[in-house]
Amino acid sequence: MDRKYKIAGAAAAGAVAAGTAVRAALSKEKKESFEPLPPEKVDLERYRKNLSDAIKIKTIADKHPESTNWEVFDEFHAFLRERYPLFHEKLELTVINRGALCFLWKGKTGDGDPIALLAHQDVVPISEGTLDDWTHPPFDGVDDGEFIWGRGALDMKNHLIAVMESVETLLEEGFEPERDVYILLGHNEEVMCDNTDNGAVAMCEYLKEKGVRLDCIIDEGGAILPVNIKGVINKDLAGIGVAEKGYADIEVAVHAKGGHSSQAPNHTALGKLANVIRDIENHQFKTKMSPMLYELFDKIARNVSYPVKLVTCNLRLLVPALELALGYVPAAASMMRTTTGVTMASGSPQANVLPQRASVIVNFRIFPGQTVDDVIAHLKKAIRYKDVEINLLPGWKNPSAISPTDSRCFKALERICRGMNPNTIVAPYLVMGGTDACHYQDVCENIYRYSPFRVNTSLLMTTHGTNERIPVASLEEGVAFFKRYIKELSKA
Ligand SMILES: [Zn+2]
Repeated sequence: MDRKYKIAGAAAAGAVAAGTAVRAALSKEKKESFEPLPPEKVDLERYRKNLSDAIKIKTIADKHPESTNWEVFDEFHAFLRERYPLFHEKLELTVINRGALCFLWKGKTGDGDPIALLAHQDVVPISEGTLDDWTHPPFDGVDDGEFIWGRGALDMKNHLIAVMESVETLLEEGFEPERDVYILLGHNEEVMCDNTDNGAVAMCEYLKEKGVRLDCIIDEGGAILPVNIKGVINKDLAGIGVAEKGYADIEVAVHAKGGHSSQAPNHTALGKLANVIRDIENHQFKTKMSPMLYELFDKIARNVSYPVKLVTCNLRLLVPALELALGYVPAAASMMRTTTGVTMASGSPQANVLPQRASVIVNFRIFPGQTVDDVIAHLKKAIRYKDVEINLLPGWKNPSAISPTDSRCFKALERICRGMNPNTIVAPYLVMGGTDACHYQDVCENIYRYSPFRVNTSLLMTTHGTNERIPVASLEEGVAFFKRYIKELSKA
């Protein structure tokens, strides 16, 4: 390089470094005052007992209503009635689709659009052959003092019972909301059923018929995660899910003549399919830093300690490098693009039979902004072999809209989380799985997915898995959060 350019380069580098240092010094979490909140009364013993007993009722739904064991849902409803008498006395109940419970808590003034708190009553079954791996049986609701164990402890009887507790306690304290408050408890969130059978879809239809628009919704989603890297950051991250990914299973199949395997051609249907799979995998969707992910990174970057901040405060400059690098880390890439997972393959029914049809299922988790149609178009373009069959399988859904982070509700969430614990970063994120909340988009723009329980990542991994459990220490905060949420958001 020419000396002149070297000097100019050095000067530019010096200027950037100086700028970086200044920016790092300035780049603090925006100083907003979050008043510490006064303590909330929580009946922790009652909550523990009721959560533990709720887990004992095996509320597993089936995708066909006629195969659902309604007795357990009746039992669960009777249990809620018995444990939460004031709740059932003061709130108006409409049962929808046999199992979904739509409670309305009439507001004093009725001014302002109603708010809604969502939860689902159903849980997933345990995987076959895993019963013996459980430390405590999955439907015994064991409370060993440290954890409450069992299916639904995290997903999401903890959340549902915390909502019940918060309303019951607020009623005991004589609280009256100004706006209407809906408590909407779906009964088949965990199963892929027809839309008409889905409790959440039916409850949304019911609200639409009544002409109800909701100001905001809170449902399951993010949790409070400790983020602790020695010398860099030590914070609690409250992730508020502002959107969820779409879902599609697409079958891709190729055909061939078949016949006896003793006279096999160079490439059977499976051989041709192998090329198709390579085309699909070699044409991954592009990773892109979305505004919500940028906001998440930015909030974390503002909270790291000084030497690291020299790098992170230049987030905007780092975006192209991050997009590229994170594309190679599956967990990170999933936050930045539509993911492609080739899963179930099938060929011929027997070892000595050439396949006449070979197929794979490709599972896509679709990034907000794209649709199932975009995914199909992408597949058609990526696959060079044109004699393929592409079939969209039932159970697909487009991604949700993205809820704003400057709404009344998001700001209140931030105020409450920070008010309860000033060491919290509140940031938006993209939910990878599905929730009932996405079915309410026709009646609400401000949909947030957040479970106010402090858990670590390894515990979160027990969701839908073995030894699902929740720390007893996280429970009180959960109820206190919902009490504050209702008090704050039900103001007219
Ligand atoms: Zn769930």
